[in-house]
Amino acid sequence: MNSDPNHTLESFVERFFVCRGAVVEKRGSGLDLLVPGDLARRFGIPEYCHLAVEGESPDSYSVNYGSPLLETIIQAAGEQIPLTIVRLAFHYLKSQGFDRLIQERFTFHGAIVGVNNTAEVLTEYLLLNCRFLAQSDEQKEGLIPRAFNIETGAPVGNLEEMLETTEKEFEPDGPCSPFEAGKIDAIIDWVSRQAPKWVEAEIQPFRDSMNRRFRRDVANLEAYYADLKQEMRDNLKRSGMSKQLIQERREKIALIPEEMAKKKDDLFKKYSIKVKIELSGAMLIRTPAVKLFCQATIGRSKKPFTLFYNPIDKSLDPLVCNGCGQAATDIHFCDRLHLLCPECAQICPACNTRS
Ligand SMILES: [Zn+2]
Ligand SMILES: [Zn+2]
Repeated sequence: MNSDPNHTLESFVERFFVCRGAVVEKRGSGLDLLVPGDLARRFGIPEYCHLAVEGESPDSYSVNYGSPLLETIIQAAGEQIPLTIVRLAFHYLKSQGFDRLIQERFTFHGAIVGVNNTAEVLTEYLLLNCRFLAQSDEQKEGLIPRAFNIETGAPVGNLEEMLETTEKEFEPDGPCSPFEAGKIDAIIDWVSRQAPKWVEAEIQPFRDSMNRRFRRDVANLEAYYADLKQEMRDNLKRSGMSKQLIQERREKIALIPEEMAKKKDDLFKKYSIKVKIELSGAMLIRTPAVKLFCQATIGRSKKPFTLFYNPIDKSLDPLVCNGCGQAATDIHFCDRLHLLCPECAQICPACNTRS
């Protein structure tokens, strides 16, 4: 067994539960657990219990190599997307000129926006890779990376490219906090629902090409059978054929549509596209950033909100629409001062008021 204290069975079990929102304390040769209800039910343990690790204890639950509880834990751990954690360092962090950046990046309709205060903070981004495989007569595969601010959920553009030139340090896959785990789960859930749409856009040229080839092959097939039919009919006109032979030929001609339909069906199957999508990796990026405490003045009302200046791609993260949760830089406000994207601006989905 590995004697490295970071790789013992106990530390694995501890990390597993901490990452799922449990409170874990070492006691004796095991762990005291306070586990969220749904997790406890899944593992068949009480919400509060003592887990004996690599040992038996009559009054507690135990985890040993090969024990059913450990098998369940390993299975659950395998369902999770592997998470890498990196910490970024910047020698210089922008401290002024944010008003101009806001003007360049955002349009606020009917509002005057100013920055009241700024603060250097640590924030986190989650970078996810959606791997897709589209299979047809040929196949196409690819990766779609997407990054989000953990705190706001705002999607951030080309973070993965900028990351390559940034000074970074990988952290051992230490426990993430229950807060982070919850946010990560929510983002992964959202991404899983959006991914088919992104993949569709990505494989559209591939789909077009398969459709073109399908139509071309069908046209060739129809031409082939039209010629064949004509040729067989011409043959019928030749003299000296027995009645029986003529009858047989006619039957063959009558079967042509059915045969062609079968061949078309084969072509349809050949060019149909099966798409598989999976999330293949997640990276939690801990980075310094600048939080801007802003205020929008709309008539007599004032609406405070925050923006993030992210030093990785040296720009402001978009805002998130209060109505639909999509990223927005073209901002409207409803009467109750919800921040809205243009599509939600007519009737605010958050409060149903018209603007
Ligand atoms: Zn919206
Ligand atoms: Zn509203």
